[in-house]
Amino acid sequence: MNISFSAEHEAFRDEVRRFLDDNLTDDLREAQRFCPGIFLDYEHNIVWHRILHRQGWIAPSWPKEYGGTGWDLTRRYIWTRESTLAGAPSLAPMGIGMCGPMLIGYGTQAQKDYYLPRILSGEDYWCQGYSEPGSGSDLASLKLRADVDGDHYVLNGSKIWTTHAHYANRMFCLVRTSDQGKPQSGITFLLLDMDTPGISVEPIVFASGDHEVNQVFFDDVRVPRENRVGEENQGWTVAKYLLEFERGGGGSAAQEAAMARLRRLAAAVPVGDGTLAEDPDFRRRLDEADVQLQAVQYTEFRTLAALSHGKNPGPESSIMKNLSADITQRLTELAVEAVAEYAQVYQPEARTVGSGVSAVGPDEGIMALPRYFNLRSSSIAGGTNEVQKNIVAKLVLGL
Ligand SMILES: Cc1cc2nc3c(=O)[nH]c(=O)nc-3n(C[C@H](O)[C@H](O)[C@H](O)COP(=O)(O)OP(=O)(O)OC[C@H]3O[C@@H](n4cnc5c(N)ncnc54)[C@H](O)[C@@H]3O)c2cc1C
Repeated sequence: MNISFSAEHEAFRDEVRRFLDDNLTDDLREAQRFCPGIFLDYEHNIVWHRILHRQGWIAPSWPKEYGGTGWDLTRRYIWTRESTLAGAPSLAPMGIGMCGPMLIGYGTQAQKDYYLPRILSGEDYWCQGYSEPGSGSDLASLKLRADVDGDHYVLNGSKIWTTHAHYANRMFCLVRTSDQGKPQSGITFLLLDMDTPGISVEPIVFASGDHEVNQVFFDDVRVPRENRVGEENQGWTVAKYLLEFERGGGGSAAQEAAMARLRRLAAAVPVGDGTLAEDPDFRRRLDEADVQLQAVQYTEFRTLAALSHGKNPGPESSIMKNLSADITQRLTELAVEAVAEYAQVYQPEARTVGSGVSAVGPDEGIMALPRYFNLRSSSIAGGTNEVQKNIVAKLVLGL
């Protein structure tokens, strides 16, 4: 496999590096350094979003006619890798990565004209209302009721694990409009305003102390019928289309950055006359994780090669999702082991952007435990590891 870039792509990489040098402020880098999970919070997210929007680089995967960059797959790969390794904010994907492509595929012209520019500018911030209590892996069993009343649907029920619902002004949402036939055939896809009367958002706080997800309650919430995407009772098709974008995203650059952090951390922890990085047992496990990471990277290259020849990543993206979740969690476990007793230190002020407060213990250590707890979710969110394995068994291995 030839994995070197063409001269043209190397020139693009240099352009990206110059842009990052000029635009990535110390505050933004620090905010990302203190981010325990996979997306940064709204406050810093939106600053970087606006910078990218001004540059015309906010939507690398959208078609150019809708405000995308028109970059080929290699340029998109270079952009993701370079910006991640430089410590740029990891933007939440619900608007640009999920709702936008879904609207481009299934929205009416009026919906595209209204929502797409607002997603690009950052004026609208979206959350994803799919999961419900009792309906996660078995999503088609969802119950949030939507009854027709004139020009409106009236919603009653709740959604759970809704990432950033406490920041969002919009939600794309699956609702039940019929109990007839298969569960999938009674689902409708709606867009709604989070300030509609009857919606309340209750926080769910992680063991790490972070607030990223919520439960959202609907009590006689009136949503105009024109906010429907696709036909009534046909929302499952739209929902599945959107999930292809959710599971297809990611990339190994975040794990590569985590590996670099872990190596820095190990080099800063004294052991005997040397450091943990020189300890034979720890070094062996670090190198094993690095080999696993390289396997993920080569799988990613294979997918990239297939896509650039016009193929679809298809269910193989489930393999990638599981491999990424495994390596992500393994790296967080090694980081906790490396900081040892300093993992116990509770020092939120040292994780506050601009506070200037130093961490007690190794500098990299302040984030070890929050990341460990937060990223337990990587084998659950977006479809659990077990469910991905079922997909691979059925659709890849034909079992
Ligand atoms: C951090 C985080 C953020 C999230 N953000 C969002 C969001 O923004 N919007 C949203 O809609 N949802 C979100 N989710 C929800 C997520 O999609 C669900 O948690 C996930 O699909 C699993 O569903 P569940 O939690 O109901 O677990 P369940 O489906 O109840 O699963 C429980 C266990 O049973 C196993 N299991 C279930 N079915 C099978 C099967 N058929 N075969 C083998 N094993 C099985 C699972 O693997 C798991 O171990 C988020 C979740 C997390 C953790």
